[in-house]
Amino acid sequence: MEKYDFIVVGAGLFGIYASLDLNKKGYKVLLIDKEKFPYKKASIVNQARVHRGYHYPRSVTTALASNDFSERFIKDHSNFINNKFSHFYGIDRFGSLTNAEEFVRFADFLGLDYKETRITPPFSKQRLEALFKVQEYSFDPFLFREFYLNILNQTKIEKRYSTFIKSAEKGVNTWKLKLINFDKDEIFVECTNLINSTYASINEINQIFKFKRIEVVTQLSEILFINCEELISKALTVMDGPYISTMPYGFSGLHSLTSVVYTHHNNFSDFEKENNALLTTKSNKEKMLKQLRNYFLNNLKIVNHGSLFTFKTKLKSSHINDARPTNIYKLSDSPGFYQLFSGKISSIYEFENLWI
Ligand SMILES: Cc1cc2nc3c(=O)[nH]c(=O)nc-3n(C[C@H](O)[C@H](O)[C@H](O)COP(=O)(O)OP(=O)(O)OC[C@H]3O[C@@H](n4cnc5c(N)ncnc54)[C@H](O)[C@@H]3O)c2cc1C
Repeated sequence: MEKYDFIVVGAGLFGIYASLDLNKKGYKVLLIDKEKFPYKKASIVNQARVHRGYHYPRSVTTALASNDFSERFIKDHSNFINNKFSHFYGIDRFGSLTNAEEFVRFADFLGLDYKETRITPPFSKQRLEALFKVQEYSFDPFLFREFYLNILNQTKIEKRYSTFIKSAEKGVNTWKLKLINFDKDEIFVECTNLINSTYASINEINQIFKFKRIEVVTQLSEILFINCEELISKALTVMDGPYISTMPYGFSGLHSLTSVVYTHHNNFSDFEKENNALLTTKSNKEKMLKQLRNYFLNNLKIVNHGSLFTFKTKLKSSHINDARPTNIYKLSDSPGFYQLFSGKISSIYEFENLWI
């Protein structure tokens, strides 16, 4: 039975970053993922916003945490950050949970840059009460993947893809795992620590190890990709409520388009419904495009490049204030069990000092 210091379950950005950190510290690591190819879930299918805090006027804690890590994140990944566009935050005239005055107070409190600008074409005054030009960028998820997989492949970290945990048993200071791969081979491994970084499957793995479920909501999420002449070098995020956001998706040449109402499809209490959900869900692209057009004067000339779907998982409690904390816990000491549940990409730094 091969023995490891750490087995990391989930090879998205968080699992890979944790594996690299552990490898740097001299630990023997095995990284497993149920998919044939790593890094194809939430770490790719997301809005690619490098959060600075503007987006969370209802959760000052999340806003402050976003701002804590954004500078370092941008510096460490400067080749994959697109800052060559003007990002506007607009305040909707109707039904918004914030207003221009509150947004200014909030940004001032956080020390965030903004410049209130006149609402001129292509933006529409009919729906926008105010427009603020802010400093918020996007990252390129595909370049991130290439970068991190390259580093990963140069290390001694062992990797097993298309691999699940079939069962886990507590030994003396170790976990004894039975893994099963795509060819139905059973593999027996042992580790002194296990990291659950499976995001949308966080509870599935916790349950295998008999730890408590965390209270989350999992929703199938759709991101639409578009091109639009009027939006070249521009991004618009409308606050704060059931609105839209469109911004460059890294350097892809496409804009992502999301809508608080239409991006999220059904709620799933259990992730095993994944395949069924993907098969039966109809795209909301037309609804999203219609909603986007509300904020512009002319009929935008939009080329639709299709959607990507993935599961978004957030803490149940966040429906109150839209908070996105990264939830990092050591649930057991010996053998060790760590739960890394990520709220935002830039929070990769939060767990660095968890293991020495
Ligand atoms: C629609 C959407 C929009 C978002 N927008 C932003 C944004 O603009 N900015 C931002 O900072 N954050 C955003 N986020 C959040 C961010 O994408 C996530 O916090 C982050 O990508 C999570 O990374 P991860 O590595 O934990 O998860 P993932 O990238 O999902 O990786 C989890 C891995 O675990 C694997 N796995 C799952 N189950 C098992 C199992 N049973 N056994 C083995 N492996 C398993 C999966 O195959 C996957 O590879 C968004 C998320 C979504 C879904």
